[in-house]
Amino acid sequence: MFHQKACELPQAFFFVITMEKLKIAIQKSGRLSEKSMKLFESCGISQDNGKRKLVATSPDFPVEWLFLRDDDIPQYVYDSVADIGIVGENEVAEKAYAVEIIEKLGFARCRLSLAIPREVEFPGVEWFSGKRVATSYPNILKKFFDEKGISADIHQISGSVEISTGIGLADGIFDIVSSGSTLMSNGLKEVYTTMRSEAVIIGSRELSESKRKILQKLLFRIRAVEKSRRNKYVVLNAPNDKLEEIIGLIPGMKSPTVMNLAEEGWSSVHSVLQEDEFWEVIDALKAKGAQGILVMPIEKMIV
Ligand code: ATP
Ligand code: MG
Repeated sequence: MFHQKACELPQAFFFVITMEKLKIAIQKSGRLSEKSMKLFESCGISQDNGKRKLVATSPDFPVEWLFLRDDDIPQYVYDSVADIGIVGENEVAEKAYAVEIIEKLGFARCRLSLAIPREVEFPGVEWFSGKRVATSYPNILKKFFDEKGISADIHQISGSVEISTGIGLADGIFDIVSSGSTLMSNGLKEVYTTMRSEAVIIGSRELSESKRKILQKLLFRIRAVEKSRRNKYVVLNAPNDKLEEIIGLIPGMKSPTVMNLAEEGWSSVHSVLQEDEFWEVIDALKAKGAQGILVMPIEKMIV
């Protein structure tokens, strides 16, 4: 009896000790936080201890989250304190650490732009020569000005960049823009965009084999969720004499499912349609005589 237990225990300990977790840095609180955690939820990976702690784990998947300021994420990943991180491309470019961009995530889309007071005439980027420009992204801006041969006075400030022309701190600004309404309400106009950004997964270049395996499993789930978001499931009724043309419009993943309707001369067609071509295809389907078109979200899509 004793002999048997003694054999079992070390094995159990061995399993616990060797179970590696992928450490993921995400923003503690800000524009990226909620969508980052939602991404894991939609992949069936839940968080098992209270929110807003510094570290959390999952009961479903070998990951550990570290909640940090977004500015620090590139460095933590570069230093291998975290294995991967979710951060805006703008922060990755600003910090310029040698990390790998593993996956674009399609949220937190924005751009980095130069803006000047609305009433000032703008002949071209050379206008910035000799001017004072306020920004939280001095490295990206300096690189851009260097490339264009512009010598300007870059003022680094950490927030509320958009008010700096109004208070006389700067002649222009370089900041994140999404809708442009913040610029407008501060009497500014966007004059030049230097980069576009979205949330990305960055990774350390030195991941162990077992962590790479966990990462591949995670990416498989993320891609299935992303793909399902970009596609819709379509069911419609088609007159048989137009069936071929209608099928040509919605080829689906392999080919559409076609079933006879109880009504003579009609078929039901089931297929998958991409979000970005959605309205055009629906119009074309209607023009071909398709009726009763149902469009449904897809939860996961594995091709
Ligand atoms: P932290 O306290 O973590 O340093 P922060 O104030 O620097 O946060 P947020 O404002 O939360 O950063 O923005 C995080 C990221 O979200 C930005 O780096 C950018 O990639 C993206 N982002 C910022 N503003 C917008 C916006 N208006 N629309 C879309 N995405 C944005
Ligand atoms: Mg920040």
